[in-house]
Amino acid sequence: MTLDILAVAAHPDDVELTCGGSLLKMAEKGYQTGILDLTAGEMGTRGTPETRAKEAAEAATILKVSWRGNLGIPDSDVQPSRENKLKLAQKIREFRPRTVIIPYWEARHPDHYHASALGYEACFLAGLKQLPLDGEPYRPFKILYAASFEGMQPTFIVDVTEQYETRRRAILAYGSQFRPTKATEKQKVYLAIDELDSKMDLLARHFGQMIGAKYGEPFLQKELMAVEDIVALPVRSI
Ligand SMILES: [Zn+2]
Repeated sequence: MTLDILAVAAHPDDVELTCGGSLLKMAEKGYQTGILDLTAGEMGTRGTPETRAKEAAEAATILKVSWRGNLGIPDSDVQPSRENKLKLAQKIREFRPRTVIIPYWEARHPDHYHASALGYEACFLAGLKQLPLDGEPYRPFKILYAASFEGMQPTFIVDVTEQYETRRRAILAYGSQFRPTKATEKQKVYLAIDELDSKMDLLARHFGQMIGAKYGEPFLQKELMAVEDIVALPVRSI
């Protein structure tokens, strides 16, 4: 199987929270989409890796993802090591995605910024012929960065108004994280579902508003964008 888009992130639910709506939108357009979680999220305070794997599979179905896998890197130890780079480069060669989405390069959680470096370098390495990897050398055409906070200027925003409700369901599929049992309810780290919900809503509205839509997801890219038709440009100026 080959993929048009592969989203790579550190923990199960990261992709849903940053670019789940965009992945769904692309799947609805007929593209083959995939998610590769680098870790099983076993350092999370709530839920076992087994429950999280089940939840991740359910969320993938909701987002109409063609393939979801896990690279098995230890949670909270996502390093851009040679071993990890080769593992990820092997997957890139296998699925040959034209577009790869990786986390934004600045983050509070080390796993997130390491996942960003690891993702970029694995895409590069996948194209080198001499590496000890199976399959034909391959390098993705486009690398996009996804982020879930406000502190950066996106390169562009995807209108996910029509996908927002489904994206929300995919995030809520992670019941162990956001719908804790009585026993874990009292823990300080517990992120209440209504709090998460309103935070997600606020952020997606914030980015949506920037392009005159209700909900949006921000992306960055390091190269400039080319334009063919300056008459057909979207987003109103005044
Ligand atoms: Zn994460």
